[in-house]
Amino acid sequence: MSKTIIISNRLPLQISIEGKNIKATPSVGGLATGMKSVHKSGESIWIGWSGLTEETIPTDMKTKVDEASAKEDCINVPLSEDDIEQYYYGFSNKTIWPLFHYFTEYAEYHNEYWEKYKEVNQKFADVVAKHIQPGDKVWVHDYQLLLLPKMIKDQFPDVAIGFFLHIPFPSFEVFRILPYRNELLEGVLGADLIGFHTYDYERHFFSSVRRLLGYELNFNEIIVNNRVIRADIFPMGIDYDKFYNASISQQRKSVTDRTQLQQELDKHQLVNREVKFILSIDRLDYTKGIQNRLHAFEHFLEKYPQYHGKATLIMLCVPSRENVDMYQRMKSEVDELVGRINGNYSTVNWTPVWYFYRSMPFENLIDLYSSSDVALLTPIRDGMNLVAKEYVASQIDSKGVLILSEMTGAAKEMSESIIINPNNMDEIADSIHEALSMPVEEQMQRIETMQNRLKRYNVEKWAADFFENLNEVQAIQQQNSAKKLTSKIVKKITDKYQNSKNRILFINYDGTLVAFKENPKKAGPTDEVIDILDKLASDTNNRIVIVSGRDKSTFDKWFKDKNYYFIADYGASIKEPDKDWHVTEDVDTEWKKLMLPIMEFYEDRTPGTFLEEKNYSLVWHYRKADPELGAGRANELKDQLTSLIANHDLEIIEANKSIEIKSSTTSKGKAVHQMLLNKDFDFILGIGNDWTDEQMFREMPEDACTIKVGKTNTAANFNTGTFRNVLDFLNEMTK
Ligand code: UDP
Repeated sequence: MSKTIIISNRLPLQISIEGKNIKATPSVGGLATGMKSVHKSGESIWIGWSGLTEETIPTDMKTKVDEASAKEDCINVPLSEDDIEQYYYGFSNKTIWPLFHYFTEYAEYHNEYWEKYKEVNQKFADVVAKHIQPGDKVWVHDYQLLLLPKMIKDQFPDVAIGFFLHIPFPSFEVFRILPYRNELLEGVLGADLIGFHTYDYERHFFSSVRRLLGYELNFNEIIVNNRVIRADIFPMGIDYDKFYNASISQQRKSVTDRTQLQQELDKHQLVNREVKFILSIDRLDYTKGIQNRLHAFEHFLEKYPQYHGKATLIMLCVPSRENVDMYQRMKSEVDELVGRINGNYSTVNWTPVWYFYRSMPFENLIDLYSSSDVALLTPIRDGMNLVAKEYVASQIDSKGVLILSEMTGAAKEMSESIIINPNNMDEIADSIHEALSMPVEEQMQRIETMQNRLKRYNVEKWAADFFENLNEVQAIQQQNSAKKLTSKIVKKITDKYQNSKNRILFINYDGTLVAFKENPKKAGPTDEVIDILDKLASDTNNRIVIVSGRDKSTFDKWFKDKNYYFIADYGASIKEPDKDWHVTEDVDTEWKKLMLPIMEFYEDRTPGTFLEEKNYSLVWHYRKADPELGAGRANELKDQLTSLIANHDLEIIEANKSIEIKSSTTSKGKAVHQMLLNKDFDFILGIGNDWTDEQMFREMPEDACTIKVGKTNTAANFNTGTFRNVLDFLNEMTK
């Protein structure tokens, strides 16, 4: 039976060694809850690190740790102290974390970290390889495992892989700073579905893919090596009912049954009926804007003295990455700020900031959420921010106000909160005043609208939605693979080739025999290409025809004295071995005078683009231009040319990063047709990669073997990935 494999840095387990026994307690975090519906016994396994390094598990206890994990359908990836130091604290948290959160000055680049990151991702891949079966689905989570999707895909190309990034994906200008940027992108692109919390993260990712790897997008899909990869947004939700129901049962408890914390909070509010609680909960992390919050609260107390004695900031900071210097420094700063505010403003009856530096059990979180009048969340950058959602879910009487930083992913979905810029102290101070004086009716209206949304798109729905999409992408891929040039088909074609005597092979040049280059003049044939073509042409039963939109002089230069046939200039020029070129039709070129200045204008105002004048066509190349600007200008140029060609026999060819205009009286199809006319070939092959090659495929008889390189929509019988596959295929035939 096929299963789901969930992979994250940490297993959803707390494992502890107690004497000779192992205790494994399932965690209750958001991801674990979301996966609960997926991670049912027998149908799924979870692969990750147990939280205990190999050095801390006594040798005779190792199998016990594995057994305890296995009981929860979890598989441990054994990691050493050194692995954790360099892969987790190092590359993940000192390189990726700060950079992806726009703290570029905090990001450290050390090759040892990078090497270890690759090594540990490979360790994960090795464990996955031991457990994966055909038909399984894989879901990889987060920034610690960016290389893993590709590692799995390379080994198991047919397995559907999803990847979800729980942190922001930064803008290209920031991402490009990373020395290992391309490897990381390629790593993620091993997945078939890539999920982000917000549209901004998705578009930043696409922008980097486009600019750094040069892949073209089609809405939210990229095709790499003939594989459709989709990216989409799936804003992670929470276990809404858990928070809502816990708040209800907390409210129903008798005073004495309540937690000690709740009793203290109740007592405080009883003594001072006017006091309002403003809550913040976060890990002590520089991305959370904790110092900004304190500065803003201090400013609020200065600006609105009427709240002295009446507003208390309850700040719960959960210790995090305590052995990283940056976090230790930040802790001292926060301690100092809290001390300063309390020192300046406290009275015998009032302490402005209650600061807790610890984590709290779930029931206490509920106490804080449900007792607070306002939640003040001011991250400088945050992938999502679940605390915002948990606070809203816990307001069972619908009273309460959420103040939320616009830099959080959650702000995109929670527009009924008071949205603030975490760097604008005055705005935050005013927003606290606005929240504290907001009419109850308005509070309820805002909270209820958000609650309805959170209830619908809860964490289970999030996980289910992601899987549904992964299934969809897989279905598209399976449809596409129907025509795939598999080794079985190659064998069939090769057999036919060997059993025939009078063959003709039409082979397109650019993108089919060689890769596209920034400068097309530099895309001459490699030694390997010449070698293969010579081998094919040396067989007297073969006619090798190079079919191209390039002009004849280029082929004269590159293939001087070769005994191949050529169709150049999109079928306007034809050449047979040992003969001169001849022109198939009398092609008009007067139109160039009209079009040339227009295209020159695009060249002049789009840096990195250039114009190529061929015998029968004009081409504007934009491969080296800024990708977005280039694509935009290409559309403009196409529109403008389209409006002008109505009265001429002209057509526009939109090819790989170029716009070309040519006479429509000649075509590759017509030239191929002519070559096939009245000849009795018993083996016809056509290979090409763009739509002008489609004209060639359409002219070929049904029993011809036609192969399209790249995208799937084609009149050809088969398709294959890249020019590399074509060379391998041709090599196979000459064996
Ligand atoms: N949380 C917790 N114990 C605490 C304080 C917070 O388990 O003492 C939880 C909180 O309920 C929330 C999570 O920690 O689910 C924080 O998630 P968020 O997205 O806000 O921030 P992250 O820490 O993931 O950056």
